This record gives sequence, structure tokens and C-alpha cells, in this order.
Amino acid sequence: MSLRVLLVEDDRELRATLSESLRVEGYDVLPAASLADAHALMAHADAQGGIHIVLLDLGLPDGDGESLLAALRQARSTPVIVISARETEAPKIRLLDAGADDYLVKPFPLGELLARMRVALRHRGTATQPAVTRYAQGDLLIDLRAHRVQRGGDDMHLTPTEFKLLARLVRSAGQVVTHRQLLADVWGAEFTEHTHYLRLYMGQLRAKLEADAADPQRLLTEPGVGYRLVEGDD
Ligand code: CA
Repeated sequence: MSLRVLLVEDDRELRATLSESLRVEGYDVLPAASLADAHALMAHADAQGGIHIVLLDLGLPDGDGESLLAALRQARSTPVIVISARETEAPKIRLLDAGADDYLVKPFPLGELLARMRVALRHRGTATQPAVTRYAQGDLLIDLRAHRVQRGGDDMHLTPTEFKLLARLVRSAGQVVTHRQLLADVWGAEFTEHTHYLRLYMGQLRAKLEADAADPQRLLTEPGVGYRLVEGDD
């Protein structure tokens, strides 16, 4: 059975182009031009096995896509990728903290969308299976269970906090994790404003895990939003 995508986008041309491209990739696409359409399609799809992933525009004729995200998060764990023309950072962070899996600013290359969809689907797919404990990318090998990090076959020594931060990123590999999520999960809910902790520890991790800490290829900065560990090799 192909994976069912709910595409909520009021721009007719973009909706048609994306629908066509996603169908070519083998997805079953349900296009919605408004929030009302989206709710109707979701109710209908529930009877047929539900929706596997939602692509959500924010500015819609009958309201803001953010309200659909809130409704989705109350009842389900369906991954949601926000696709929006809004470039200001505050809503981006708010949406990620509210449970969106990722965020793409229009216009975006199709390949980027497909990659983010794969990552989001994989993360949800493993939700009922054992958590991710191994990550491999190039010469970097991370084994969370064994508490081991190797680069080029050599054991790297990480402090407990560095390891905790890295482990959090490994568990969301390929996805952006906001500053707030990282601070809350690694240091605790009362530390969510202490972004300087993150800068400090990310610098230390990059010095240990990147070939050139000044030009990171693994621990990527999402400006104003958070960090993303690149997807591991499969
Ligand atoms: Ca729109």
C-alpha cells in the first residue's frame, strides 16, 4: 500500500505541481485547498487506514494551518512538515515546539522535501520499535547503548553533557531540533533560555566530531531555530 500524504496548500499551481511530483514518487496524495477540505479528507481517510504524513501550508483561505497542527497533535502522532513562505523565525520555532516535525520555506527543491519526508516517516515508523541507538555517518560511529563515539576507528572522549546533547541529536538525526527542545531535554525545563550553554557545548562537540569545526558538515546550525545532525548513512 502506498503512503498517503495530505497536502494542504491553497496555491493551486503549487498544489498541482507537488501532487504530481509526489505521485510520481509513489505517494498517494490527497490535495486540500483549505482547512475545511483538510478536515474533511482526514475524516474520510480515517476509514481507510488514515494519513501517513501531512504537508501543511500556513496561510489558508479559512484560517491558519497552525490550528490544524494543534488539532492533529491532540489526537495523533502523524508527522507534519510545514511548508510556508513565511521566513520570520518566531513562527518557525513556535511550530516546531508545537510538534511540527520539520519546516521548509518556499520555494524549496523537491529533493529536499522528499528527504525531509523520509526522515519524518522513519522517525514515526520507529516510534513503536526500539529507540535509535546507533548512528553512522562517514568515519563517525556512535553507539548510544555502549556509550561509545568513534571517529576513524578511534574512541573519542566526550564529557557526560556532550554525550547527552549528542544522543538527543542522534535520536532526531536528519531533523531540526529547536534550542528550547535541546535545552529542556539535556539540561532541564528551567534552562530553556540558556542558549549560551548550547553554543558552548556545540562548539566542543564540533571540535571533536567535525573535520573543520569552523565549517561543520555534521552538526548543522539552523539559524535562529536550532541544530540538525545530518541524516546517517544507511
Ligand atoms: Ca498559502
